[in-house]
Amino acid sequence: MIQYKNPHVTVFQSAIFCTTATVVQTADLVLVVDPNWLPGEVEAIRHFVEMEAAGRPVYLLFTHSDYDHIIGYGAFPKATVIASEAFRQNPGKEKIIEEIRTWDEGNYVTRPYPIEYPVLDLAVSRDGQTFKAGSTKLTFYLAPGHNADGIFTIVESEEPEAGCTWLAGDYLCDVEFPYIYHSSIEYEQTLAKAGLILEKHAPSLLVPGHGKVALRREEILRRKTEALEYILEMRRCIAGGTPFNTEKLWKRYHFRRGMESFQMENTALFKREEGHRKCSGLSSGNTT
Ligand SMILES: [Zn+2]
Repeated sequence: MIQYKNPHVTVFQSAIFCTTATVVQTADLVLVVDPNWLPGEVEAIRHFVEMEAAGRPVYLLFTHSDYDHIIGYGAFPKATVIASEAFRQNPGKEKIIEEIRTWDEGNYVTRPYPIEYPVLDLAVSRDGQTFKAGSTKLTFYLAPGHNADGIFTIVESEEPEAGCTWLAGDYLCDVEFPYIYHSSIEYEQTLAKAGLILEKHAPSLLVPGHGKVALRREEILRRKTEALEYILEMRRCIAGGTPFNTEKLWKRYHFRRGMESFQMENTALFKREEGHRKCSGLSSGNTT
């Protein structure tokens, strides 16, 4: 279904995990972001792009390499593909493809396109890297934390009322607390970077990887604050050996039965990080 639309941006929302897929159109290009999940949904996005492109070049952007975000890659074989250099170098490509196959076979799903790990035409390796086509400018920022290879992308165009669109991947989602597969420290740094991006680019639209878009600065700031508070509170509880208030979490987020396993995985990650912190604290204590 289409969750949000303006003259330049169409945001599709999957029936699965409220995952978003976005199509940004300017006079210069059509940018497709993370087309997903179900075959019919990917086909609807592919058809939409085919109808709308009208000769413009089609770019395919992946916000990060989680399997739900790359699942539609094979449906856009002619697109120019963009993601991070870390995405390109991901050592777990086979595992990601296996996750797609496991999900598809587990749900008796077949797809009319091949399941492959994306091959990139353009790799993002540093903050502030830009790509220009005519009056359209994409500005990229590295966004590790949720996983190791995420990027933020800002789309700006000189066309009237084009606005500024921020494609955030799995950050600043209203529908879920931070899912942290890689590093809570890097996640926190990425949130700080998000604050700087908000000031620098003043985006008129934020599209997260899951859940609703945000149209107001206050809403983006609220999501950023909530995410940071979650991380700090998790860290405090793990360090102090006190229980995290999950009841509060389930009042805020609605899909408790689906989210409990992610909360458990986050807890395990924070415990590992606390263990590392203690180890490095002890060793530095021994040497001074
Ligand atoms: Zn995701």
